[in-house]
Amino acid sequence: MRARSDRAKVLLPMPVGSGYDYRVPADMAVAPGDFVRVPLGPRHMTGVVWGEADGAVPDDRLKPIFARHDAPPLSAAHRAFIDWIAAYAVAAPGSVLRMTIPVPEALDPPVPVTGYRMAATPPKARITPPRRRVLEALAGAGTVEAARLRAGTDASAAVLSGMAKAGLIEAAPVAVRPDWPAPQPDRPGVALSVDQRSAAQSLGAAIGEGYVAFLLEGVTGSGKTEVYFEAIAEALREDRQAIVLLPEIALTAQWLARFEQRFGVRPAPWHSDLTRAQRRQIWRAAATGTAPVVVGARSALMLPMPALGLIVVDEEHDQSFKQEDGVVYHARDMAVVRATLEKAAVVLASATPSLESIANVERGRYVRLELPERHGGAVLPAAELLDLRREGPPRGRWLADPLVKAMAETLAAGEQALLYLNRRGYAPLTLCRTCGLRLECRHCAAWLVEHRLAGRLECHHGGHTRPLPRQCPECSAEDSFVPCGPGVERLAEEVAGLLPSARVLVATSDTIRGPAAAAALVQEVQDGAVDLLIGTQILAKGHHFPKLTLVGVVDADLGLAGGDLRAAERTWQMLNQVAGRAGRADRPGRAILQSWRPDHPVLRAIAEGDRDGFIAEEKAARRRFAMPPYGRLAAIVVSGRRAEPARQMAETLARRAPAQADLAVLGPTPAPLALLRGYFRYRLLVKATRAVNLQAYIRRWLSRTPQPGGVRIKVDIDPYSFY
Ligand code: ADP
Repeated sequence: MRARSDRAKVLLPMPVGSGYDYRVPADMAVAPGDFVRVPLGPRHMTGVVWGEADGAVPDDRLKPIFARHDAPPLSAAHRAFIDWIAAYAVAAPGSVLRMTIPVPEALDPPVPVTGYRMAATPPKARITPPRRRVLEALAGAGTVEAARLRAGTDASAAVLSGMAKAGLIEAAPVAVRPDWPAPQPDRPGVALSVDQRSAAQSLGAAIGEGYVAFLLEGVTGSGKTEVYFEAIAEALREDRQAIVLLPEIALTAQWLARFEQRFGVRPAPWHSDLTRAQRRQIWRAAATGTAPVVVGARSALMLPMPALGLIVVDEEHDQSFKQEDGVVYHARDMAVVRATLEKAAVVLASATPSLESIANVERGRYVRLELPERHGGAVLPAAELLDLRREGPPRGRWLADPLVKAMAETLAAGEQALLYLNRRGYAPLTLCRTCGLRLECRHCAAWLVEHRLAGRLECHHGGHTRPLPRQCPECSAEDSFVPCGPGVERLAEEVAGLLPSARVLVATSDTIRGPAAAAALVQEVQDGAVDLLIGTQILAKGHHFPKLTLVGVVDADLGLAGGDLRAAERTWQMLNQVAGRAGRADRPGRAILQSWRPDHPVLRAIAEGDRDGFIAEEKAARRRFAMPPYGRLAAIVVSGRRAEPARQMAETLARRAPAQADLAVLGPTPAPLALLRGYFRYRLLVKATRAVNLQAYIRRWLSRTPQPGGVRIKVDIDPYSFY
C-alpha cells in the first residue's frame, strides 16, 4: 500500500491495540515520532505518530489530529525500543509508551510556577544548614523555581515557606527554565589508582563509538562509582546524555553529593518521590536534551533522550530493577537493549554481579572490567560464622553472646556497629497461646506482622493494616497473643536491655521515607550521633560510614529458605553487600553471621571470600537443571476475585498448551501466595531451551485460548519472583 500523507497511525499510551489511524489536516505536516494531540471518544489524548496508517478505516470515519506538540520528536531508536520491550514482555506497545510519557502535560507550553528570590532587606534570623544552602543557591541567581531550588538544595517545601515567612526570601512567579545546570566534566576528580585508571580509560574510549556493554566488577569500596563518573565525564565532553539507574532512590543522598563534588552540580533526578511539576520539568529537560545527566530508579530508563551516549546501571544485580506490575520488565536487561538501539555504551556495575551478566561476559557479549581491591588498602572484613547450634542465644533472645560481646567492644572503642535483619516490624508471626490461632491477613495468604511502634498489625504483601485485637477472634481468650520470631523493632528492644547506653537507630522503609530522611540518617551516623544501626536491606546499599566497623547479620539463613531459583545467589549478594558496610578507610572491619547452617555452601563461600568457587558451583547447578541463564523461563500467573474461575482458566491453559520441542509447561499450581490483595492466584511455568522463541510461543498459545471475564493473566518473562 502506498503511504498517504493525509493519514497517520498514532500510538496512544493505553494498554490496548497497537495504534489508531487519524486524519492529518491539510495545514499540518507530521512525521513519525511527532507528539500529537488526538481525540479518543469524548476525550483528548497525547500520542506519538508511529508510522503509516493501515488504511482500513473509511475516510468519513477518521477523526483528525488536533495539534502537533512543540517538542522534539521521539527518536526512531526510542520507538524501536518501545516496540522491542512490548514484543519481549508480551505487552501492548501503548502500555510501554505510557512509561515514556508519564506526564503528558510536559508537552504543553510551560506555565509560570512559584519561584523564590532573595529578600531585598533580609532580617536577622536563624540560619539552619538547609536555609544556608537555599541562600547560597539564590545568591545572584534571580528568581529560581521552587522545584529546582528544592532539588538543588535538598530543602523541603516547609523550609522554603518558613524562610519566606521569616522574610529571608520572597515568592514570585517565574517561567520554568527548560534546561538543567550543566555538570562540569573537567573539574578535578580523585586521583585514580592504576587499576581504576585503566578501567576508566576503557569506558571513556568507548563513549561515542557505538554500542558496547561493560560489566564493571569490584568489591564494595573499590571505586566503581569513581570509575563510571569518568565515563559520564567523557559523555559530557562529547555532548552526549547519560542515564544512571540506581536501585533505591531513597538511598541516593550520598551519591548525589558525590556527583556534585565531582561535577559541580547535581544531576536531574527521576523517581516516584518527585512532584508532578518536577516531573514535568525534568521530563522536558531530558526530552529536549537540556538535562545532560538523569539519575533515577528504573523508570528513568524510559525517558526520551535525543543524544543518549551512556547508560549506567549501578548495583546491576539488584532485584528492584525488575518491574513486577503493569509491563513486567527488567530495567538492567532493557538498558542493554536500549544501548544497542541507541548505539550507546552501557555499564553494569556491581560487587556481586548477577549470574546473567557473568554468563554474558562468558558468551563474549559484555566486556568485563575488574577493580581488584578496595581503595586505599582498606580490607574487606573477614566474615565469621557464628554457629547458633553451639553458641545460640538463650530462649527469648536473638543475639548470641559472641555477637553481643563484639558489639560492646566496638562501641567501647568509639566505633559503630550495624545489625542487619531483613524483617520490618516487631515480630513476623503472632499467635494465640490458648488456641494456637495465627493472625493472618484476610486478603493475602500471609501472616500479619506486628508493628509495635505503630501499634498495629500489617500485611507485608497487600499493605492491609489493623489493630492487634485484645481478644482472640477464635477462642475469645483475652491478652493471649504472643509474638513469635524477631523483627528489627524487637532487636532494638533486646539491645536496649543488653547495651542500655547505646544510641540505637532503627532504619527500615517504615522509618526512612524518601531522600530527605535518608540524608538525615546518613548525617546522623556520620556525625557520630548513633552507635548502633539496626536495619533491613535499606541499609545494605551504597552508604559509606567511615566509623562503622562491625556488621552483625542476625539471621544469615533467612534468604536460603524457600524454593526460589535465585535464593543462593541473592543470599550471596546480600550478605556480601551487608558485610561490605564494615571497615572502610583505615579501620579494619568485622562481619559476624549468625547461622543454624554454617556448613551451607553459600555461607562457607562467604566466610572464605571464595567468589569464584561460589559462582562455579552456582553455575553448575543452573546448568544441570537448564535454568537461567542457561535456559529460559516464563511465568504465567492467572488470578481472579473468585478462586474457581481462576483455577479453571489455569487448567484450560495447561491443557491447551501447544506441543513444542525443547519446551515444557509446568503446572498449574496454586501460587505460594495463593491469595494476594483479594485475588486468588495460580501459576504456570514455561521452561525452554535458549533456542526457543518463548514470546512467539506464548502469544500463539494465549491468543488461541479464550479468556473469560473476571480472570487476569499476567505474563512474566524471566521471572525473578516466584510467590
Ligand atoms: P564502589 O562504588 O566500588 O563501592 P566508590 O567509588 O564508592 O566504590 O569508592 C569508595 C570510596 O573510596 C569513596 O568514598 C570514594 O570517593 C573513595 N575512593 C575510591 N577511589 C578513590 C581514589 N582513587 N582516590 C580517592 N578516593 C577514592
